[in-house]
This record gives sequence, C-alpha cells and structure tokens, in this order.
Amino acid sequence: KLELAGYGKGAIGGVPMMDFKKMAEDAGLKIISSHVNPVDTSISDPFKAMIFKYSKEVTPKIMEYWKATAADHAKLGCKYLIQPMMPTITTHDEAKLVCDIFNQASDVIKAEGIATGFGYHNHNMEFNRVATKEQQEKVKGNPFAAFMKVGDQIYDLMLKDTDPSKVYFEMDVYWAVMGQQDPVEYIKKYADRIKVLHIKDRYVLGDSGMMNFPNIFKKAYEIGILGYYVELEGDKKGRTQFEGVEKSAAYLQAAPFVK
Ligand code: MG
Repeated sequence: KLELAGYGKGAIGGVPMMDFKKMAEDAGLKIISSHVNPVDTSISDPFKAMIFKYSKEVTPKIMEYWKATAADHAKLGCKYLIQPMMPTITTHDEAKLVCDIFNQASDVIKAEGIATGFGYHNHNMEFNRVATKEQQEKVKGNPFAAFMKVGDQIYDLMLKDTDPSKVYFEMDVYWAVMGQQDPVEYIKKYADRIKVLHIKDRYVLGDSGMMNFPNIFKKAYEIGILGYYVELEGDKKGRTQFEGVEKSAAYLQAAPFVK
C-alpha cells in the first residue's frame, strides 16, 4: 500500500496519474493515500503557487483546488487525502480561520467521493504556541517567563477547532518528538481523531534510538489505528531510498511489537 507525495495537475511526479496508477499496480502497489497542499493554479512557479497565507479572499481558490484534486484522487481509488504542510498560524484568530477552511475543504472532498474527508499531517511547528494578549500579560515581568508554557499549542487548537466528523489527523510520530511531544500521549488522548500514523525516524527506523516504537505501536493497536506509513526523508549519509526502505522493512519485520 502506498501513500503518494508529488501529485500536481493530474500528474504524479510528472507522470500522468492514470499511467502512474498502472505502474504502481504492475509493481503490486495500491495507492490508498496522498499528500497534497493547496496551490493557486493561476501561478506557474510550483513553489510560489503554494498557498500558506489563508484568508477569506483566498478561500475560493483553496476550495477550487480541493475540488479538482479530490476528483482526481477519487479516480485513483484513493481513500485518504491529506494536507502535510501547516498554513501560516501566528495567532488564535489565524488558527480558527485555518480550522474553518479545513472543515469546509472536507465537505468539498467528501462531495467528490472521498468519504474520509480531510486529513492533516504534522511536522514540528504545530507544537509551537500562540498566545493571546491576556495570556502574555499574565507572565509579563516574571523572570521565569522564558521557561513557562505560555499560550496554546497550534496542534491542540487544530484538534479543538476542527469538526471531528470532517477532519482527522495523521500523526507523524517523529516530528511530534522533534516538537518535544510524546506521540503516545497524543494517540491515547485523541484516539478518536488520530486515524493514521507516519512511522518515521531520523532516517532508517530504529537507528536514532530516540523513538519509542514499542510503546507507539502498542498504543496505536489499542486505539484501533486504521493504518500507518513508513516515511523516509532527509538522509545525510548518501544512502539510496531503496536501502532505507529495505532496512526499515527489516526493522519492522524483526520487531516483536509489530503485528
Ligand atoms: Mg511525515
């Protein structure tokens, strides 16, 4: 089973999407999930086209993107459609607007035939905090303010302000740890919201020693997780993706905690 990254304008990594689907199927792989980020299709530069600053004005462009993208992914037979990048959020108001747009996007996605709605994947910046004026005032002048947790974590606001019937979460356990969180606590606390996982380490699974995979898997099975994907990104030792995939698969196959 495969989760895509690299969809754009009816193609995947530049290959027409139905040809890509056939290539995957010929290799024994089924595409069930895809990472996509809203772009303004009127801008040709793919990086400049990415929409990060959400507003009422840009919402129709975002919905236009989701409509076409969801229709394409329904044709691919995709079950999960997931946004992997955080829009700009520096205040509670911005967080609320982003959550409203996620909810709205979910309706558009469902209408195109993807019943699971809108999925969201985190990195570490979702564990940054935003603080209201009142929250900032409370610690003003306190010499220990730098050590205090002031305000709310963006991820928690996303969980609070998105509709559970519309938006689910794909927790990337590695990026949660990089955000100084315990993914097990989140999986436990939000068992009804976290539906799928990114099982990821700094590179090859198990190599860094910083990921508590036994506890992560234990808790994930307990809540009835729907699935997980192994993700490889950012190797700095010159290994190929194939080596990384082989070694990570070997790690999971040998792990007594993986069912
Ligand atoms: Mg990930």
